[in-house]
Amino acid sequence: MPLPIGHALAGVVLQQVRPGFFFTNRWRDALFFMLLANLPDADFLPGLLCGRPNLYHHGAFHSLGAALGVAALGAGFFCLKKRPVAAGRCGRFWGPAAMIFLLFCSHLLLDLFALDLVAPFGLPLFWPFSGRYFIASRPFFINITRSSASGDFFPSLFNGHNLAAALREVVILGSLALAAAWLRARAEKRSRGRGEKGGISGG
Ligand SMILES: [Zn+2]
Repeated sequence: MPLPIGHALAGVVLQQVRPGFFFTNRWRDALFFMLLANLPDADFLPGLLCGRPNLYHHGAFHSLGAALGVAALGAGFFCLKKRPVAAGRCGRFWGPAAMIFLLFCSHLLLDLFALDLVAPFGLPLFWPFSGRYFIASRPFFINITRSSASGDFFPSLFNGHNLAAALREVVILGSLALAAAWLRARAEKRSRGRGEKGGISGG
């Protein structure tokens, strides 16, 4: 599993595709994208409360079935709240549903391409239709070492091995986020340029 920083950067990549999708405030919007990209790892919480943080991790909540369920629930919530603004009137359900699904799946994709040395290896990707676990044969990301006890779970994350894993994630996904930001800035500049030209010729 990549660290939260890796998943957050994947969220930033998607935010660059549709900035201001959930909230008009840029930072609030970015934080929400990052939060949704990390959401599947909320399956650590029940285990942490029981004293065994890994107990439910990489279970049913790391699957396409969970992605569909969360997307439907989240989109239903936005539909009731008449948000997000950027989704428009017709897309108040399907727009947010698609974006939440994509963000959840970005997490599954990164986990799929991470080295996993703790059984069961990988993710039950097609739950509830199949309980079979999947993992990429050639991982991009290094495994994260962590304690199996809640008491020292968080301190156990701070070690040299995990720092190397974090740096790798920042290099790979940070580059993608920067490239996405650059492409978005270029597209915005072009559309502004076209708007100004249209204004001059129209006047
Ligand atoms: Zn995960």
